[in-house]
Amino acid sequence: MKLTGKVAIVTGAASGLGRAIAEKFLSEGARVAIADIRGAAEAAASLGPNALGVPMDVTDEKQVDEGIARVVERFSGVDVLVSNAGVQIISPLVDLAFSDWKRMLAIHLDGAFLTTRACLRRMYAQGRGGSIIYMGSVHSKEASPLKAPYVTAKHGLIGLAKLVAKEGAAHGVRANVICPGFVRTPLVEKQIPEQARDLGITEQEVIKSVMLKNTVDGEFTTLNDVAELALFFAAFPSNALTGQSLIVSHGWHMQ
Ligand code: NAD
Repeated sequence: MKLTGKVAIVTGAASGLGRAIAEKFLSEGARVAIADIRGAAEAAASLGPNALGVPMDVTDEKQVDEGIARVVERFSGVDVLVSNAGVQIISPLVDLAFSDWKRMLAIHLDGAFLTTRACLRRMYAQGRGGSIIYMGSVHSKEASPLKAPYVTAKHGLIGLAKLVAKEGAAHGVRANVICPGFVRTPLVEKQIPEQARDLGITEQEVIKSVMLKNTVDGEFTTLNDVAELALFFAAFPSNALTGQSLIVSHGWHMQ
């Protein structure tokens, strides 16, 4: 058990990657707050007594501060934050509404900032260090057409992680970014027909010629692949691993 006694907060944990990470952390002995704008209580109830549902819109300062305060009170602190909540909007930049651009940056960047700030305040006060993990993407390193705000926000998370690594070091807090390739979650299932429509190709072609084209083996990354990497970052024993971003994508992007 690699996370015995640890308390983790995972945003966007009612679905997809966040839920898989929450399950992995629970199986390794952590107590885990399932923070989500919808379905948090139901997801936590299905995950057992060490999961706590925390309804939270990560773009809302009050909801984030109150939600994290609740977790800290209930579980006596916080050791790991996985800032994971996210959405995708597919559109050519020239057709993108300003409101959609702002909404995307708010969920991915304001959400990361607000949850990080609330957790860092607690981690500094506790004096037992901590691990901040951001859900980036291959799109933290690469661009694909139709994803302007997503690519912009995901690149921004790498900057934030480097900053938190530097400021957090004196308090034993490290920060890292997970950069997955395509994983078949609801977020991806939704965009397959959208990309097919915008690119004028079939859904099978979107999978083969867009999503998996540059992988080494034509395979999707799995929920467990990403959850294993989250566990690795969460359980790493020292500040040696900080300010890093690691791609898990079947070789789609190599550095
Ligand atoms: P998902 O749609 O299955 O889950 C996203 C979760 O975030 C949902 O439960 C949703 O309710 C929640 N959420 C959305 N807006 C929120 C808000 N304002 N406040 C709180 N919660 C909110 O999607 P997923 O694929 O699991 O995506 C999770 C993260 O992984 C996202 O940041 C996404 O960009 C990233 N990611 C996904 C893939 C992939 O292929 N699936 C690849 C790289 C990165």
